[in-house]
Amino acid sequence: TDQSLIRNFCIIAHIDHGKSTVADRILQLSGIVPEREMRDRFLDRMDIEQERGITIKSQAVRVPWTVDGTEYTLGMIDTPGHVDFTYEVSRALAACEGAVLLVDATQGIEAQTLSNLYMAIDHDLAIIPVLNKIDLPSAEPDKHAEELAGLIGCSPQEVLRVSGKTGEGIRDLLDQIVMDVPAPHGDPEAPARALIFDSVYDSYRGIVTYIRMEDGRLNSRERLHMMGIGMTHEPIEIGVISPDMTPTKALGAGEVGYVITGAKDVSQSKVGDTITSAARPATTALEGYRDPQPMVYSGLFPVDNAQFPELRDALDKLKLNDAALVYEPETSVALGFGFRCGFLGLLHMEIVVERLGREFGLDLISTAPNVTYQVTGEDGTVHHVTNPSEFPDGKIKAIVEPMVAADIITPKEFIGSVMELCQDHRGEMGTLEYLSPSRVEMHYRLPLAEIVFDFFDQLKSRTKGYASLDYHQDGEQRADLVKVDILIQGEKIDAFSAVVHRDKAYAYGVMMTKKLRELIPRQQFEIPLQAAIGAGSSPGRPSVRCARTCWPNATAATSPANASCSRSRRRARSA
Ligand code: GDP
Ligand code: MG
Repeated sequence: TDQSLIRNFCIIAHIDHGKSTVADRILQLSGIVPEREMRDRFLDRMDIEQERGITIKSQAVRVPWTVDGTEYTLGMIDTPGHVDFTYEVSRALAACEGAVLLVDATQGIEAQTLSNLYMAIDHDLAIIPVLNKIDLPSAEPDKHAEELAGLIGCSPQEVLRVSGKTGEGIRDLLDQIVMDVPAPHGDPEAPARALIFDSVYDSYRGIVTYIRMEDGRLNSRERLHMMGIGMTHEPIEIGVISPDMTPTKALGAGEVGYVITGAKDVSQSKVGDTITSAARPATTALEGYRDPQPMVYSGLFPVDNAQFPELRDALDKLKLNDAALVYEPETSVALGFGFRCGFLGLLHMEIVVERLGREFGLDLISTAPNVTYQVTGEDGTVHHVTNPSEFPDGKIKAIVEPMVAADIITPKEFIGSVMELCQDHRGEMGTLEYLSPSRVEMHYRLPLAEIVFDFFDQLKSRTKGYASLDYHQDGEQRADLVKVDILIQGEKIDAFSAVVHRDKAYAYGVMMTKKLRELIPRQQFEIPLQAAIGAGSSPGRPSVRCARTCWPNATAATSPANASCSRSRRRARSA
């Protein structure tokens, strides 16, 4: 493909502003998906994505588009919008020269509109501002065109207006992409360099890596070298996705496609690595990706502990398709062998658990999620605690918890309720800016632990669904936190331990013992349930007690963790 005729772009927006639907119309107009094969949100290829109506994975697809008799090759990437999948978006941006920034014409600018725009600007992408959903009677395109133009610094006339539903304006959008997005500027004569921006494990074909060619050419008959992990492979197939995997002889500079090497060992591929030609290797690798920092941790245990090796294998394979996932083995007295896993948020955690179930047939128990703490003991040793059961016993000098910078966009009538909510969650107010006479952006610094759990649900309900939230990590802060242990028959159940703020510890203990009392079936004899606050097991510390005739069987032991999952499921739906 002639490099000057390539245009690589991604579609970015706040969740539900219509990225995947606009992508559908592009697939249809370009003719690569025939009418009878078209279905809604075609690029949401996973069942979970279809069922939940959200995009989880970025999807790259090649579409042809002709302007004035010249056929261009568009590399389009549809991206997710939820804050948990920002890392997915950032990797997609690195494979593009342009971004279509969609804004729902009935909603206007939202929190992820801004965060995605700033990321695209950081990557030096050409930005094409577009208002979507202009078919809706409640659309206010003039008002929001003004807002969007002010944000990017263009004139309101330059903001395109489309409908992903009716297809109106999509032709103009494609023409604009050809005009505004620069052709890739890699060197076609240089030694080959391709960035691995994603991968997936296919049970028949092994590892499929998705690549963006920067320089040179890779062909399907030459040996490939992965520069970071230092391995050489014989490719089985090289190709492009349009809309399904289509083998080609080679990929040239600027093209987006895939490589299958036949490798089945997951350590033989890494997202962010550079592929070069073994015969004529490049000297320096491309800049890869920074590994994202997990936000929350949870223990995952197979219900059937004999499935531990399968869980390890499944996590290794899933990690190929989910570069943000981290895990290490963990043992629990109550739950046996499992893994301590790090996630980018509760939705991410929920999706991982669900994918492990669906794609690998694993039935899992997850423990209540928590953030990481730095705990300094009295002797000065610092513990990096990702698991409440590892919270050091004995006297503690200091505890430091992770903080986030949160941006909340809300209609101005809800400013008071948002402030109240943030105060309840130990938030510290920063600046407040008017985006328009009726909408404000509020900045807060909050403990991560306060924001990842039920904050978003509450924000939505207090603002009648109108507020949106984005956040990113912002250092650490000392906090008065304590460990709460749950004891059944006087015995500490490690999987139930939690680290909470001292003011909320009592309420947490009451909540857990109450929940257990409901969940543990009635038995012939009495089972004492107890919550103990504070590390160690000194007598006389505050505790919550309640007795009941019951039997702590395995299901009961797992249920509170499951209950916390069903709460976050509601959050995901409302997101
Ligand atoms: P994404 O999260 O940005 O990918 O958004 P989706 O493409 O999944 O769309 C979110 C919702 O908005 C879906 O219910 C779509 O049917 C709807 N939608 C998307 N574009 C339009 C549009 O132009 N007009 C109307 N009326 N609905 C739209
Ligand atoms: Mg989508």
